[in-house]
Amino acid sequence: MTQIDIQKFCAREDDDRKHIQKPHKHGEYVYATNGHILARFRDAEAGQHWEDKFMDKVQKLHAKSLGRASLKWKRDIIKLPPAIECSYCDGEGKLADCDDCNGNGNFEHGKHYYECKECNGAGRMNPPEICHSCSGTGKDGSQRVKVGVSHIARRYAELILALPNLEVAPNLDDKAAIPFRFDGGDGILMPLMK
Ligand SMILES: [Zn+2]
Ligand SMILES: [Zn+2]
Repeated sequence: MTQIDIQKFCAREDDDRKHIQKPHKHGEYVYATNGHILARFRDAEAGQHWEDKFMDKVQKLHAKSLGRASLKWKRDIIKLPPAIECSYCDGEGKLADCDDCNGNGNFEHGKHYYECKECNGAGRMNPPEICHSCSGTGKDGSQRVKVGVSHIARRYAELILALPNLEVAPNLDDKAAIPFRFDGGDGILMPLMK
């Protein structure tokens, strides 16, 4: 099985919900979630302990969405539309302009110019900062991607499309969590609101 980066399914480092910044091992599975997506992986290592109460909630949610007998598993139903440029970095994936001086390299104050200390007057960051809005992809991650009657954000579409032998069970209800499965695990993904 190809190596899956389970950390990508967890909450980011700057997320307040510290308990889900790392995956958690429970039984034969490792669980990871960021509140929008929840996935579990067989034969994986985990780094953090989740509270029993939270784990119960996760398992109930998982069972409710994936335990239904009526699920119709489908392959290749997620078609990525042409990407839209990330408006934050203009599609560059990185932020080269210095944040402090907006790329000017200096500040005007009264009759004088002062060199920007952050970039030493260059106006550019060296090395450039990875764009936090698109995580360096240069693409708008919140672009809507159709899945059956629902829509999901492009960043999650790309995340699950990278899973081996992905199958998705599209819902008839556009607000319900969308079940998916792959070699070595399964999960659910919350659709975008209308
Ligand atoms: Zn600067
Ligand atoms: Zn960007």
